[in-house]
Parts: sequence; structure tokens; C-alpha cells
Amino acid sequence: MAKRVIVTGGAGFIGSHVVDLYIEEGWNVLVIDNLSTGRIENVNKKADFLKMDIRDEKLPEVIKKFSPSVVNHHAAQINLRKSVDEPIYDAEVNIVGTVKVLEGMRGAGVNHIIFASTGGAIYGETEMIPTPETAVPSPLSPYGIAKRACELYINYYSTVWGFRSTILRYGNVYGPRQDPYGEAGVVAIFISKILNGETPVIFGDGNQTRDYVFVKDVGYFNMMVSEKELCGIYNVGTGNGTSVNELFSFIRTLMNADVAPVYDSPRPGELRRSCLAIDKIKSTGWTFIPLEEGLKKTIEWFRTEHRRKRQ
Ligand code: NAD
Repeated sequence: MAKRVIVTGGAGFIGSHVVDLYIEEGWNVLVIDNLSTGRIENVNKKADFLKMDIRDEKLPEVIKKFSPSVVNHHAAQINLRKSVDEPIYDAEVNIVGTVKVLEGMRGAGVNHIIFASTGGAIYGETEMIPTPETAVPSPLSPYGIAKRACELYINYYSTVWGFRSTILRYGNVYGPRQDPYGEAGVVAIFISKILNGETPVIFGDGNQTRDYVFVKDVGYFNMMVSEKELCGIYNVGTGNGTSVNELFSFIRTLMNADVAPVYDSPRPGELRRSCLAIDKIKSTGWTFIPLEEGLKKTIEWFRTEHRRKRQ
């Protein structure tokens, strides 16, 4: 019998790729998403879809009825700036929403959760670069604090209620379907600006580094974790730090574009360096594609979208 999974946030950027892979592997998938930032056209046609907020009181009933073996929880308020401006909203969606998912699972007797956490905002500014999973989290934003709080709740459900849990601390995920309109997703923003003939903006001196990981590779690890029931905390990144200046120059070269960025004042509270140690994830056999290859695939996708929208 086909395995069953609920993917919250499955209409979003990462969640929709995860859903595609579950479908490819023959799983039955229910997507729960309120479409606040996600798009219905991202949702795989072979998945069931329910437009619902994870905080809805009917959530426990829905989980019980679908009766999955695992809940893959990607729904979240993902905008770090918004979390600073609206910390209450951020906590309601990201903390209370996650506790509601966990309670719904407990009531339905579902006890494996895969949780999309962050390997950037959670570690904060640290001397340990690349940063291993064992580093003491020191989040500096409401978004990072909320993700850490969720990890601690999940740890509680594991210890007290016997849940199996997988916490995935993502680096900077990029790839097709990423929203270029928000504040996150610098790859999507640079590519879109260049395609639209606009000038890309770099905040600060551009020497700040991030660990960029391709969305399909993130999806493959979600599958590996689901199929093999891997538990624990995993950094999901590449172990390579790339500066915003380097990233811009890669994208400009790959797009054959003759454009210079403008520099603006640094964003307050922005991390200087972020790069994940990946010994643990590598030991599972997981691999990733090089940044240039991922960027090529991403540019190709954005070009096709750009042409489609202009027709
Ligand atoms: P996204 O905004 O594309 O996806 C989030 C999805 O959740 C959207 O489809 C949105 O409509 C849905 N959603 C939001 N609030 C909801 C609610 N209350 N009820 C139901 N659905 C709701 O963002 P993404 O980049 O795909 O992020 C997915 C997950 O990965 C998030 O948990 C995010 O925190 C985490 N993450 C992302 C990155 C990254 O680089 N993009 C890095 C670290 C962690």
C-alpha cells in the first residue's frame, strides 16, 4: 500500500518540490497550505490539496482522517524582516502553528515529524564556521527564535510522547519557483532584476557569505529521511560560503549580462557569515550539485517564466 504524507506549506517554494518528489516515489500526498505566499499552480496535480491555515481548529480532524505515517512541516512565515516588524504574527504562525501541528499529530497517533528549520538564523553570529549541528544556537531575530522554539517543542514531543523527529536546518535554499518579490531569496531577486532590465541592489559591502543549496537537493534529502526514517538534526547545506558579490558575479556571467549592482546601506542585524558543516548529512550518502550548475537550472526556469508572462 502507498505510504501517506501530509506536507504543510506544499504550495510554497521548497514544499512544492518536496511534494513532487513524494509523488514521483509513489506516495499519497495531502498538501495543507493557506496560500498566503504559496501558489496553487505550484501544487502537483496528483496531490490532494486543502486550502487551510495550520492554526485552524479542524486541523486535528484532517490529520486523523488522512492518517499519514509522517507529517512534513514546511508551512511558515519565512520573512525575517517581517518577523522583526510583526513578532506576534510570526510567533502565532511559526510557534503556535507548529504546536498545533504536533498536537494534531498526537491526537491522530501520527508520530514522525520532519521539520523545516533554519541553519542561518538559528546559529546567529558564530565563530564556528562552518557551523556544526552541535553549536549552541544563538538566534538574534524573532524568526530564528521561533524556529528554535519549535525545535525544542519537537524535542519535548519526542521525549515525552515518543515522536520520531527529523529537524532539517537549511542553508540558503535557491532554485525554480522561489519568490523574487519578497525580501528572501537573493538568487531569485538578482535573476529577476536582470531579466527585467533593472539594477540589482547589494546591501552592505557584499562580502557577507551564505551557504547556497539547490532546492532539488533539499527535496532529495527530505525523501531520504522519509524513506529511511532518519531522525535527528541535520544541517542541509554545502559547506561552502559564497559572498553576495561572488554570487552576483556568477549570475551576471551565466546570464551574459552587462550590468553593475548598486550598493546600499547594510541591513541591520544581518549575519556576516553563515556556512554549514555537513559531515553528518554527507555520512548518509546525500550529495549536492555545484552552485554554478544549480544557478544555470534556476536561470533557465526564470527565463522560461519570464517569456511565458510576456506572451
Ligand atoms: P514559502 O513562503 O514559499 O513557503 C511557505 C508556505 O507555507 C507557503 O506556501 C505559504 O502559503 C504557507 N503558509 C504560511 N503560513 C501558513 C499557515 N499559517 N497555514 C498554512 N500554510 C501557511 O517559503 P519556503 O522558502 O518554501 O520555506 C519553506 C520552509 O523552509 C519554511 O518553514 C522556512 O522557514 C524554511 N526555510 C527556508 C529557507 C530558504 O532558504 N528558503 C531557509 C531555511 C528554512
